[in-house]
Amino acid sequence: MREGNAGRTRQYDAAVVGGGVMGLATARELRRRGLSVVLLERGQPGRAASWASAGIVTAPVGHGDEPGYRLERLSRQLWPAFAEEIRAEAGLDPEYRETGCLIPAFDDDQARDLDRVIRLGLIERGTLLRGSELRDAEPSLGPSVVAACWKPGGNVENRRLCRALEIAARHAGVEIRTGAEVRRIVVAGDRVAGVELVGDSLSANLAVVAAGAWSRSIEGCRPVAPVVPQRGQILALDRGPVRLQNTILTPDDPYLVPRADGRIVVGATREFAGWDATPTAGGIAWLLSSAIGIIPALRDCPINQIWTGFRPVSPDGIPIIGPGAVDGLFFVTGHGPSGIGPLPGTIALLAALIFGEAAPIPPEPFSPLRFPH
Ligand SMILES: Cc1cc2nc3c(=O)[nH]c(=O)nc-3n(C[C@H](O)[C@H](O)[C@H](O)COP(=O)(O)OP(=O)(O)OC[C@H]3O[C@@H](n4cnc5c(N)ncnc54)[C@H](O)[C@@H]3O)c2cc1C
Repeated sequence: MREGNAGRTRQYDAAVVGGGVMGLATARELRRRGLSVVLLERGQPGRAASWASAGIVTAPVGHGDEPGYRLERLSRQLWPAFAEEIRAEAGLDPEYRETGCLIPAFDDDQARDLDRVIRLGLIERGTLLRGSELRDAEPSLGPSVVAACWKPGGNVENRRLCRALEIAARHAGVEIRTGAEVRRIVVAGDRVAGVELVGDSLSANLAVVAAGAWSRSIEGCRPVAPVVPQRGQILALDRGPVRLQNTILTPDDPYLVPRADGRIVVGATREFAGWDATPTAGGIAWLLSSAIGIIPALRDCPINQIWTGFRPVSPDGIPIIGPGAVDGLFFVTGHGPSGIGPLPGTIALLAALIFGEAAPIPPEPFSPLRFPH
């Protein structure tokens, strides 16, 4: 940190707005590359969508030339080393685990469809399992599941990940300010000059907007990040009699995620319900009845916790990563329902764009400049 002319204005190379996984991992990376970095979080870091998440990290499904596919494939390659680095730096294991994933089919038509998609090569390393092969892979499945596609993937314990990222960022030398609500990005001429907070301001040449579902409310941005909140209701069950082996992904949700401590996370609704964070009877009933339909023994598991979170959803469903229309302004937001899985690839792409290096994947589809500015 440097003092300004009058000794009053704090001056940083970079100010990161928002302390979810995107902001924390960005701040850590910028500091590791030698910048002085302040992270500004209006509440506590890692308590919004990144806390609410289920933390699924899967192999991508679809066409290899789709932007989301490229980002997820890159991230999958980076996850093991990324998780190990964070564990070593923080002294806290984010519990990134390759459990394998199962996509169930509930009738023969669905099984045929899954088989066709696998044969078309749209599910990387996908394998159709039936009969005893399927029951061996996941003994707790009920009779409603007639077949399933196995594919690589797993999950990370996202709340531990948030804490570990925060510790790693602090150890790297990031200054993390909590209770620091950013109002606007201050622009002088055509470049970033700093950040105005509620009751404070600071100077920075680089500002990174990582404010999740709230990114739209940061003034002074060009473009305004056109992100809206999508509510997800989600819950965790204690292990009870069920030992879930795989992460279970149904085509239209819900999904079931086994944690290292035996809890099973069941998520999540997808609702545009404004900023109402209250779980509903209908949402939780749907999660529980669908989950019990897949694994009947879940009916005897105690409910551990119910919560909601707001996914930051972009208009085209593609994350917003890269420079804005003002020199020194960058965005890393809009990851919607997949913001933990694609984390390491996102940070690699953003860092390459900030430091003028070759991008690891084509950056254009992610550009903030695809929106009016
Ligand atoms: C129920 C649910 C389940 C999910 N499951 C998965 C999953 O299994 N796998 C997956 O990959 N993704 C999943 N996601 C999506 C993923 O969690 C998000 O895409 C990701 O966490 C977004 O991270 P973020 O850092 O952009 O936002 P957030 O974690 O929301 O962080 C944004 C931060 O910015 C702060 N902030 C906002 N405004 C300001 C301001 N003006 N000044 C300062 N700070 C500000 C907020 O307080 C917050 O801490 C899920 C999301 C939900 C809600």
